[in-house]
Amino acid sequence: MSSAPAGSGALSRLGWDELRAAVADCRACGLCESRTQTVFGVGHLRAHWMIVGEAPGAQEDAQGEPFVGAAGQLLDAMLRALALTREADGDPARRAYIANTLKCRPPGNRNPQADELAQCEPFLLRQIELVQPRLILAMGRFAVQALLRSNEPIGRLRGRVHRYQGVPLVVTYHPAYLLRNLPDKAKAWEDLCLAADVAESGAAPGEESARAATGAPGASSGPDAQPVP
Ligand code: SF4
Repeated sequence: MSSAPAGSGALSRLGWDELRAAVADCRACGLCESRTQTVFGVGHLRAHWMIVGEAPGAQEDAQGEPFVGAAGQLLDAMLRALALTREADGDPARRAYIANTLKCRPPGNRNPQADELAQCEPFLLRQIELVQPRLILAMGRFAVQALLRSNEPIGRLRGRVHRYQGVPLVVTYHPAYLLRNLPDKAKAWEDLCLAADVAESGAAPGEESARAATGAPGASSGPDAQPVP
């Protein structure tokens, strides 16, 4: 393979346009062979929230945007419940930047492989450096595994604040999973309230320790407040 990301050091000088072009040209792993297009990311370039998903699916591969289709609609509903959107302009405190750990679709929606995640990670790292979010919300098993280097299930990692490259990180379920497991939407709402607490406080008290996820400022935790698609 050619046109490798060449590590985060080589990317650290790139601005948004150069980084986007580097991703579009990337052939560092075998996923370049089957992609329709790369899926770079979308949202406010200085958003306080950064949402990190797993890998593009068929619709993302076709449209070139992360989190579209039913899972994307659920994510947007979840964000709306916190007065957040993926719009590119407006108040950064009320905006999210959305990207995946992998920029190319695994064929047949198979699981991402460890070497693919490792090759692609420098792109995500540079995106995080450019956005400088106050909070990263990692959605889904492979996003969590890639960012936290942990094979623990999401159920054991959620409910506390982690760090990725110095940025507070909260773990939750992927919207596609929630569409198949509706009872876990209550847990996802707790995770969002914890994330809102961290993003609004600008700090991460209780890092690496269990803490109550409910009671975030301006957010209700009752079942009626759970976001719905
Ligand atoms: S998945 Fe990432 S590393 Fe692999 S070809 Fe696509 S952009 Fe490059």
